[in-house]
Amino acid sequence: MIVGGGLVGMAMAAALGGAGIPVTLVESEKLPDLTGEAFDGRSSAIAYGSQQVLAGIGAWDHIAPFAEPIRDIRVSDGGWQFEGASPFFVHYHFADLNPETIPGARSHEGGGGHPPFGWIIENRAVRIGLVKRLQEIPAVTHIPGMRVDEIDFAGKSNLATLSDGRRIRARLVIGADGRASAVRRMAGIGVKELGYKHDAIVCTVTHERPHDGVAHEHFLPIGPFAMLPMTDDAEGRHRSSIVWTEDARIIPMLLKLTDAELGLEIERRFGTTLGRILPIGPRFTYPLKMILADTYIKEGLAITGDAAHGMHPIAGQGFNMGVRDVAALGQVLVDAWRGGLDLGSLQVLEGYARWRRFDNLMMLVVTDGLTRLFSNDLPPVRLLRDLGFFFFNKAKPLKRFAMRHAMGIVGDLPRLVRGEKL
Ligand SMILES: Cc1cc2nc3c(=O)[nH]c(=O)nc-3n(C[C@H](O)[C@H](O)[C@H](O)COP(=O)(O)OP(=O)(O)OC[C@H]3O[C@@H](n4cnc5c(N)ncnc54)[C@H](O)[C@@H]3O)c2cc1C
Repeated sequence: MIVGGGLVGMAMAAALGGAGIPVTLVESEKLPDLTGEAFDGRSSAIAYGSQQVLAGIGAWDHIAPFAEPIRDIRVSDGGWQFEGASPFFVHYHFADLNPETIPGARSHEGGGGHPPFGWIIENRAVRIGLVKRLQEIPAVTHIPGMRVDEIDFAGKSNLATLSDGRRIRARLVIGADGRASAVRRMAGIGVKELGYKHDAIVCTVTHERPHDGVAHEHFLPIGPFAMLPMTDDAEGRHRSSIVWTEDARIIPMLLKLTDAELGLEIERRFGTTLGRILPIGPRFTYPLKMILADTYIKEGLAITGDAAHGMHPIAGQGFNMGVRDVAALGQVLVDAWRGGLDLGSLQVLEGYARWRRFDNLMMLVVTDGLTRLFSNDLPPVRLLRDLGFFFFNKAKPLKRFAMRHAMGIVGDLPRLVRGEKL
């Protein structure tokens, strides 16, 4: 049984159900709400390795039409009064990596055999694609619009009570119920939390000039400002998604601005390389904090995605780490299932915890460190940062390693990330 049918829970259900393991997926939101425009305004940078997983679980074909490839990444350091980016920046180009060193790269057409770093996709489009995929898998029972209120973990199989009083028995419960995970709490798993002095504003903007597949990250004194390339809309307007971290106290004022006024504020921070910028559609805000669960597993229980680890979006890695959880836990469980082992046993689940905990912890440390280093405008820190940018940009092997990291193809890769079958 999977509790929480968000991005990670649905991907997990598709992975396990697609391999023939009977899965019940319970999600508290009704499907029209979960996939509606008002639910989630974010677009996610889906790394190349995560795309391999989404393809391997049969969901990518439903998502691909809404995916914009990232061919270039430009990271630059901004300063006070928004005088624009400093001349020191790091530039990654997708063709700088040898495709022979990228698992599964040959299956990607276009780009001269070079796959992109990843894709920018509206979370809503990923959710709709995953819902469609689940409908194709007979082994998955999808129960949306129902909350899991209680789980009794005593005994050989867990007993979950849903909000309509229904009871479900499951040998293994997978908690994919997000940062405020009720499963984590009900299982008595503690969590470490660390807040930031800024929150995030997210919205979609149109701009006069095409983005050419370039993802920008511009570090401002308060925190990072990202402009992520999206597909053009039905009217042919060029679009990007912005993730703008800002002092939580001034966000309410910014949200009250008209579209034209907010567009000018965005230009003051990002510049006018894309021409005039105009926000469209609703604006969303997200509180930001880092969280880490004390453990990922107990007998009969595994937690995944944001329920296990929540990170700052500075590197666009939260969902990507959740997808890696899916690939690793999926592989451990499918192998155990085929070998006739008990899926809820600690011996089986330890394989997942060992595989994922260190990788997630490293990403938490890196994203937290980057956030603190770049949300800082002290002149000596800025000088060091800019020198760091300068030398990093020249250090080709280091840059290639960072690119492979951003693509999610470093470390002990699960079969799905390597483009192989589960
Ligand atoms: C501003 C911002 C930008 C981001 N950008 C990126 C990016 O570019 N790339 C990237 O990889 N990541 C990004 N992330 C991170 C990413 O959005 C999250 O890591 C991801 O959404 C986590 O998915 P999840 O399924 O684990 O949790 P959630 O999306 O929180 O899903 C949990 C689900 O569980 C359900 N639920 C909760 N409690 C219960 C219950 N008791 N019973 C039943 N259902 C329940 C909820 O309704 C929800 O649908 C970003 C995050 C933020 C804040």
